[in-house]
Amino acid sequence: MDHLNGGPISEDAFQWLEFNPKRCNRCGDCIDMCPMDVLYFGSHGFPYMRYRDDCWYYDICVFVCPRQAVTMTDLPYLIR
Ligand code: SF4
Repeated sequence: MDHLNGGPISEDAFQWLEFNPKRCNRCGDCIDMCPMDVLYFGSHGFPYMRYRDDCWYYDICVFVCPRQAVTMTDLPYLIR
């Protein structure tokens, strides 16, 4: 997918998803199911929001995770 809002962000940049490494089994379902293709495996082996600014907050990653490892935390002010 072409990403319209810029390139990838660093793995330690602010993101509003948390991936619990104690729960995540690295199945990749959240990465595969994201309609905006913003999630990728990071160098630490767990998903992160590589194209954070293209996220449309669908929450699909939260709901598809079979391990309840994904939490949406601080939402951008526009959708609060
Ligand atoms: S769907 Fe859940 S368990 Fe699978 S890679 Fe994503 S966070 Fe990890």
